[in-house]
Amino acid sequence: MLTYIEPLYRPPSEADSLILQVTIGCSYNRCSFCSMYRSKRYEERSWDELKAEIDYVAEEYPSTRRVFLADGDALNINTEYMLKILDHLYRSFPKLERVSCYAMPKNLLQKSKQELVALRDAGLKLLYIGIESGSDTVLRKVTKGATSKGIIDGCLKAKSAGIQLSCMLILGLGGRRYSMEHAIASARVVSAIVPEYLAALTLLLDDVVRDEFMSKFGEPFEPLSDVEVLDELKMLVEHIEPREGKIIFRANHASNPYPIKAVLPDDRARTIALIDELKARPDRLKPSYLRRF
Ligand code: SF4
Repeated sequence: MLTYIEPLYRPPSEADSLILQVTIGCSYNRCSFCSMYRSKRYEERSWDELKAEIDYVAEEYPSTRRVFLADGDALNINTEYMLKILDHLYRSFPKLERVSCYAMPKNLLQKSKQELVALRDAGLKLLYIGIESGSDTVLRKVTKGATSKGIIDGCLKAKSAGIQLSCMLILGLGGRRYSMEHAIASARVVSAIVPEYLAALTLLLDDVVRDEFMSKFGEPFEPLSDVEVLDELKMLVEHIEPREGKIIFRANHASNPYPIKAVLPDDRARTIALIDELKARPDRLKPSYLRRF
């Protein structure tokens, strides 16, 4: 049987995947804006539990093609254990095409290039990485536990190992004061990494972390209005200049005021024109009570 310790999260693009909870919670769990795993203490599930679950699903859904490894930073698992899990998954599901998981920049920095290559060869093909901001000021104020250099180094190491990346940024994370710095520095980091996919979410603070976020920010935090979020998004799109290739960009998360999809840099002008249109017609934006992080 499959058992999940709730709450359980997965990226929207993994809606049809088998979710296998190889870890519980997040090994870091201290980002001041994130309430996802505050109710959990980090632990790794035992081989006996995981093997029993994989064997059960292999009987019930032998045609499984995609597996997402939960929870918050499953890549924290040591490489040998992760290789054992991947090996059993691919042996159990003959049609399996892709295994993916969330990862933190520190998970990537802690693994060698050889380890990442071994994981890629074993079928770990896509990592979802919350980079949140490229600004070191903002990263420090939201206690992300990462620097822009660490993010770039970790992500480039994963890319050079052949692992695809889906990176996430959070619009509004620096508030009004750091909005421009957040947008431009994030564009610089993303342009250096050139992830295959980039998602921009919009900050919505859960009551569980609101006070902590405000206090750790270290100065009054002024949230952005919807139009200011669009200004920040426009600045981000204007400054993303991939050093090579293209980035599939999405700002269509449930937290965003309007769903935007683009390939950058090709769709830059069209996307900027759309953002300008939306700024002039804020009535087209999704009301805040319908959004969730
Ligand atoms: S944002 Fe990611 S790394 Fe930070 S606490 Fe939440 S799950 Fe953990």
